[in-house]
Amino acid sequence: MSTATERRIGVFVCHCGGNISDYVEVKRVVDVCKEEPGVVVARTHMFTCSDAAQQEMIAEIQEQELDGLVIASCSPKLHMFTFRGMAERGGINAYQYIHVNLREQCSWAHRGETVEATNKGIELVRAGIAKCRLMEALSPIRIETKPHALVIGAGIAGLRAALALSDLGLGVFLIEKAKRVGGWAGQWKSLFPNNSNGITLVDTLLDKVATRENITLFTNAELLEKSGTVGNFDVRFRVDDGSSVAANVGAIVVATGFDTYVPEAGEFGYGLDGVMTLPEFKKAMDANDGALVRNGKPVNAVAYIYCVGSRQKKSDSCTEPNNYCSRYCCSATVHTASVAQKAMPDIHQFHLYRDMRTYGKDELLFEKARANGSVFIRYNPESAPVVEQTGDGLLVRVNDELTGGEELEIPVDLVVLVTGMVPRENTNLIDILKLPLSQDGFFNELHLKLRPVETVVDGVFIGGACQSPKVMAESVAASLAAVSKAGALLL
Ligand code: SF4
Repeated sequence: MSTATERRIGVFVCHCGGNISDYVEVKRVVDVCKEEPGVVVARTHMFTCSDAAQQEMIAEIQEQELDGLVIASCSPKLHMFTFRGMAERGGINAYQYIHVNLREQCSWAHRGETVEATNKGIELVRAGIAKCRLMEALSPIRIETKPHALVIGAGIAGLRAALALSDLGLGVFLIEKAKRVGGWAGQWKSLFPNNSNGITLVDTLLDKVATRENITLFTNAELLEKSGTVGNFDVRFRVDDGSSVAANVGAIVVATGFDTYVPEAGEFGYGLDGVMTLPEFKKAMDANDGALVRNGKPVNAVAYIYCVGSRQKKSDSCTEPNNYCSRYCCSATVHTASVAQKAMPDIHQFHLYRDMRTYGKDELLFEKARANGSVFIRYNPESAPVVEQTGDGLLVRVNDELTGGEELEIPVDLVVLVTGMVPRENTNLIDILKLPLSQDGFFNELHLKLRPVETVVDGVFIGGACQSPKVMAESVAASLAAVSKAGALLL
């Protein structure tokens, strides 16, 4: 083995297409690092992870007879294995490769501070080079993984994940914080897009879970501790009778779902008699077979106000806005309007929307609602609708954007606030699992496109709407993707 001072090191610094080089002067990093002991070659690449760049680096390893490699690019979570593989293809032991995180830990953390970011980048890369000089060749070891998984959350996404893990032959501990399983889906009778009954859907899944000997379900249960590493976690959770259960699992799938936004008092008239959220409206319809009565008379007119609690802008009254679109609410509302129309054929329905985001197949629900007589009025958030009480009823004032801002006054019996999704309060779970959150407060995936259900904690996966607003089909797809990753790890 070459000694520390004899080592021949190659240093490659990535622009990441501007993600790094917009804030770190990568050429200066290279120029300084060229002078470090042991560095034989140092250069930049626009994308070090690209096939072309990897081929060039492999050629450099072989031509320069390198036996140490430092790549300064994105997080090692994303590409450490990519470059370990490349190092091996070039003929270097994978553990004589050092990954320096110049993006998440430098350029992204110091946007707009080019001088400081560059100086920090130089020190990070110099530290990587110093470490590389001392690295010894290693051989990977194999460890036995435990053929069990923990699924946290027994809504639709968690139930489907548990069944799919069971299908793979893995034992499953399924824990649900609430007293009953099923989450939001299990509370509603008619779900978009095809009117499936959420209660029946959950019962069907629960019946299947009950037949599986390798699934153990605990309700009113909460994770208390987690230790160990990927493939071999020791977990302990509190169960219904207050005692705790210990288990040894190889992977954890988090499917804790979402909460719905609760408007502030007075927000679009919330708190006035007859102003309710979409979940409250759906529950009222389910409880009355769809036909609603108010003040002793059948409900004759309803106004839906969209984007309540989603796509907010920062203001004095909203200091921590939810900037995101909740994705499900446009489709859920036009579907609800069709259900209401069926139960109350004479009803007049007014949809006060900002943008209609019934994407994909759900566009048909929008068309159906229009064909059924629903009236759609586009509003501008700068002049948002105002709701007032008028005797027994309600009056909605809105400027119709599509007719140049004409002010309309719409008397209605009910106002339904189309509330979006918000992250669930999960403080304990976040502490125990050490999972990072996104800017919006949902669990953060490792990489939105390349590793969408993995987290920074190896062996802990996220599925469903705990990651971001999702419609139910997307939630199930994400939880099944998490199952695939867990299965690939444990089988
Ligand atoms: Fe607004 Fe529709 Fe997005 Fe919901 S899905 S936040 S109502 S645009």
